[in-house]
Amino acid sequence: MTREVSVRAAGAVDGERLQARHEQLRAIGAVGLTGVSREAFTEADFEARRLVSSWAAERGYPLVMDDIGNLFIRRPGREETLAPIVTGSHLDSQPAGGAFDGAFGVLAAFEALEALDGASVVTRRPVEVAIWANEEGSRFQPTTMGSAVYVGALPLQEALQATDSAGISAGQALRQQELSPLSLGRREFGVPFAAYVEAHIEQGPILESVDVPIGVVTAIQGLRWFTVRVTGQAGHAGTTPMGARRDAVAASVAMIHELSRAMTDAEDRVRFTVGRLDVSPNSPNTIPSTAIFTVDFRHPDASVLARLGDQVAPICMANACGCTVSVSETMNAAPTVLDPAITETIRDTARALALDCVDIVSGATHDAKQMALACPTGMIFIPCRDGISHSVLEHAEPHQMLAGARVLTGVIATLASDSAGPAPFPPSSLTLQGHKGRG
Ligand SMILES: [Zn+2]
Repeated sequence: MTREVSVRAAGAVDGERLQARHEQLRAIGAVGLTGVSREAFTEADFEARRLVSSWAAERGYPLVMDDIGNLFIRRPGREETLAPIVTGSHLDSQPAGGAFDGAFGVLAAFEALEALDGASVVTRRPVEVAIWANEEGSRFQPTTMGSAVYVGALPLQEALQATDSAGISAGQALRQQELSPLSLGRREFGVPFAAYVEAHIEQGPILESVDVPIGVVTAIQGLRWFTVRVTGQAGHAGTTPMGARRDAVAASVAMIHELSRAMTDAEDRVRFTVGRLDVSPNSPNTIPSTAIFTVDFRHPDASVLARLGDQVAPICMANACGCTVSVSETMNAAPTVLDPAITETIRDTARALALDCVDIVSGATHDAKQMALACPTGMIFIPCRDGISHSVLEHAEPHQMLAGARVLTGVIATLASDSAGPAPFPPSSLTLQGHKGRG
């Protein structure tokens, strides 16, 4: 019975509608022919939210927002007092990002609501589309800001006070959002969900390399961020003897070299990146007095994440080359294991739809990682061309998006249906204690 409903709902997914909505969305903040620039809380981000909100209004789906700007679109269920099954992702992008990262998950989620309508499925539980605010964290740190605030992992005031490079706070930027004339209710943080399922492009090369359309995400790898500040002494490049220098860039290069040697493993699962190096005074004929660089370090295994990550500060200290070094850890997110029952539902649904699937660990972080602190959570990946993401070259084929949206719809129909809905969610566990216990 549940399977029949699931397959029927998935069959009502409309690939042409999905593609048309994708084209409408990618035109907002378009960069060239393929990319988008929709950083969080910019006019382009707000316009994208208005567009999806207008689709909700056309369908008569109620819309609510919370104080960090997360939006929720609701398709009512037969028992409206039950916690909803929630699906979604984000509409903000990197400064020169792709049209699929986040946007695909929102489009597939909205398509799921429309497909449930199209198949005349009345679900027991309500189904909601979540549009999480500021997932990317490129303009305002940290990443996954909206979902982190929602589950209580990040205090609202701290999030609102985050500033961009121009000194504008997230709170100031968010106040520019004008969603009217849509009627918009308010939502408190932490309203319980029965389950959360997010569809996303893989942002890596695995699914394409094995030629499988559906990735069943079993875990999201852990992540640690560091900022290393190296302070030396400015001096004239032509007159200061080499032995008398305290060169902040030379010291940074030594540190990064040793870190690169340490941050490896036989299985090639470690991910180590120095993505930012700010030099001062940044002049060709002056010895650098200050260098600040970032470390992004990831691994799916908590013990490796702890062991190697704890070496960052000592390695930097040991390679200071006469400079002063300070290392601060700006993020420490443990690996997340996603809900086994939901991952099994995703596999079942893919099989019922005759779509191949394979288990996969997510290399990127997602709003689903925050939601896993609060409710049973799953993720569905689709391939992206050459594994490229966070780039204007990001691309997924229409048939790949269609397959992902069909599986998502089938999973949502199953979870929200009569016989297979998850156990009611206990509101008391949606607390910081729950977060700590899990993380
Ligand atoms: Zn994303």
